[in-house]
Amino acid sequence: MAFDLEMIKAVYAGMEERVSAARTKVGRPLTLTEKILYSHLYEGPARGAHERGQSYVDFAPDRVAMQDATAQMALLQFMQAGKAQAAVPSTVHCDHLIQARVGADSDLQDAYTENKEVYDFLASVSNKYGIGFWKPGAGIIHQVVLENYAFPGGMMIGTDSHTPNAGGLGMVAIGVGGADAVDVMAGMPWELKFPKVIGVKLTGKMSGWTSPKDVILKVAGILTVKGGTGAIVEYFGEGAESMSCTGKGTICNMGAEIGATTSVFAYDNSMRAYLNSTKREEVVELADEVAQHLRADDEVYADPASFYDQLIEIDLSTLEPHVNGPFTPDAAWPISQFAAVVKEHNWPAKLEVGLIGSCTNSSYEDITRAASIAKQAVDKNLTAQAEFTITPGSEMVRYTTARDGLLDTFAEMGGVVLANACGPCIGQWARHTDDPTRKNSIITSFNRNFAKRNDGNPNTHAFVASPEIVTAFAIAGDLTFNPLTDTLTTKDGQQVKLDEPRGVELPAKGFAVEDAGYIAPAEDGSKVEVAVDPKSDRLQLLEGFKPWEGTDLKGLKLLIKAQGKCTTDHISMAGPWLKYRGHLDNISNNMLIGAINAFNGESNSVYNDMTRGYDAVPATARTYKAANIGTVVVGDENYGEGSSREHAAMEPRHLGVRAVIVKSFARIHETNLKKQGMLALTFANKADYDLIEETDTFDILGLEDFQEGKPLKVVLTHKDGSQDSFTVNHTYNQGQIAWFKAGSALNLIRLQQK
Ligand code: SF4
Repeated sequence: MAFDLEMIKAVYAGMEERVSAARTKVGRPLTLTEKILYSHLYEGPARGAHERGQSYVDFAPDRVAMQDATAQMALLQFMQAGKAQAAVPSTVHCDHLIQARVGADSDLQDAYTENKEVYDFLASVSNKYGIGFWKPGAGIIHQVVLENYAFPGGMMIGTDSHTPNAGGLGMVAIGVGGADAVDVMAGMPWELKFPKVIGVKLTGKMSGWTSPKDVILKVAGILTVKGGTGAIVEYFGEGAESMSCTGKGTICNMGAEIGATTSVFAYDNSMRAYLNSTKREEVVELADEVAQHLRADDEVYADPASFYDQLIEIDLSTLEPHVNGPFTPDAAWPISQFAAVVKEHNWPAKLEVGLIGSCTNSSYEDITRAASIAKQAVDKNLTAQAEFTITPGSEMVRYTTARDGLLDTFAEMGGVVLANACGPCIGQWARHTDDPTRKNSIITSFNRNFAKRNDGNPNTHAFVASPEIVTAFAIAGDLTFNPLTDTLTTKDGQQVKLDEPRGVELPAKGFAVEDAGYIAPAEDGSKVEVAVDPKSDRLQLLEGFKPWEGTDLKGLKLLIKAQGKCTTDHISMAGPWLKYRGHLDNISNNMLIGAINAFNGESNSVYNDMTRGYDAVPATARTYKAANIGTVVVGDENYGEGSSREHAAMEPRHLGVRAVIVKSFARIHETNLKKQGMLALTFANKADYDLIEETDTFDILGLEDFQEGKPLKVVLTHKDGSQDSFTVNHTYNQGQIAWFKAGSALNLIRLQQK
């Protein structure tokens, strides 16, 4: 059995006490979001109320899931913790590295060859540390999690933005960076700002061409790509109950497109049916016993405006199918207006490719509804005018839909089934096009549609819709076609209309699979060797960072004084560098190459006091490191904003940066620097930023008495020998000071094992 029943029992066993304690402390009825969050406090039952949108709170999630790209550095770091096993049930999913070229079988074989060292590492490290391993071809992380692990009232983190997909099964599931996964697997608390809660009340019932995808496409139009930031979106109402569990998953999945922390639905019959259908009857029995805690309190549903920070209402009976795009998922167009909008904006009306599936939309229901449209193309003597691909979300869905003849139906229409992997959704797509400079349109049932996302081509206009709408468009080959009202011309010149899609929520013969692709870890992994080739340029075992030397830091050189915006992408660029994300030394060659040097206004050009000239930032850092001279990075406001990628903190640490002194930090990056054993400091007086000159030497004083709430002092020695000094603040608590002294948080955990 892949899922962990004992863990679920333990979560439910504590729920009554934890929810009651929270209700008492908060002093009012609770939303579902609050019930789940308060049931997962690291401290146990609530000792006080947490203010939504304000309080930073430590949580204890139940599970961790990692995809193969982000898992590499997360697991290399986890190895540093010296633990025998991951502290919570965890899984790795090989889905992001498979490129779609010609079709499932051959693409999968190519991926095995090209990524062998990564797969061997992930398989062996998972085997050693009690982590479940889903091999290449097993499916996409979020679909596999929904089918196997998600459970109502649970809380999980995943190292991928669309982790919220599990909200379709009533779980608070949050996408995070690798460092967060390491914290949870190492048994440390996981910190999150207590989110606000947005309520979405769904009334009425969907019919015809409208599907759950249209709910989130509509919500994206209302809230825009930023509207959910810092909030959990909670769906409720009769419309929610009338919808399938997998449809709910689609809605939660795309909550990432509005910036929401996650999205969640209350436990209901659709979830019971899905759990039963995926052979988790025991979970239903357990969930039924605590069902009152798996939904908001009645008072919340009776008067939602009083309990949610924002309330949106959508009537499903009148909701039209939507098409969103191009270039952003919040450009939401009802189908009745879409043709006019395409013409008005002069977007290419000719559709070149329709792509269905992915983690967002490849449920049995999705595939049956799309297949019911594809079948009409064959039965009504129509020829599909655009290329058409199908990406099953998991081997279980692929096997079941193949068994039931659905994939054959797509093949008859001319469709190509791709591997059960991310493929074109993440740009792993060798698209066949005669002219990449031509403006062109594609439509997908995926979630993201930013420029270059699918095929790397800025000329591609990518639109997002439900699988059935995508299939209809692929048949028409024309974005100005409205399947609800327009006719198509058959091969023999007749005019025909497509009938409404028909779907089946769950397979009548049940789900089936021969080899789901799961490999359970060894009971005792102590003898398992982790496979890393010392000659690999993609993977490198980490060495623990050196502990603090016990003295003030003196004689540090300025590496860069960054000016203006400096995000984690400026500190550790993505793109081609992602190939090296499992190799700290190689990826460190991108360190701070996007940051602007305040002294010359250029990127990746800083003064190197050793060579007395200008050089690239990583090369300069390496010269100082070779000479055993520590360095300092100086930054502006909100330094380190953006994604939480841990490389942005690990690379400076690896290349000898001892302190980062800024006007202000983005909080997650500040914490990441602390975890890596660095000094994250802020100017007490922001104007002191201006004191720093290009050739300065820094002494950081006060470390022998490093205490919570006690500022440190910096003495600058300028080139002419003159000095300036200023005060720097910090936010280290006692535990974080211990990380600094041990050299990193993981060093400390390792020491504590002994
Ligand atoms: Fe992310 Fe797309 Fe893969 Fe889903 S299918 S996990 S959205 S890359």
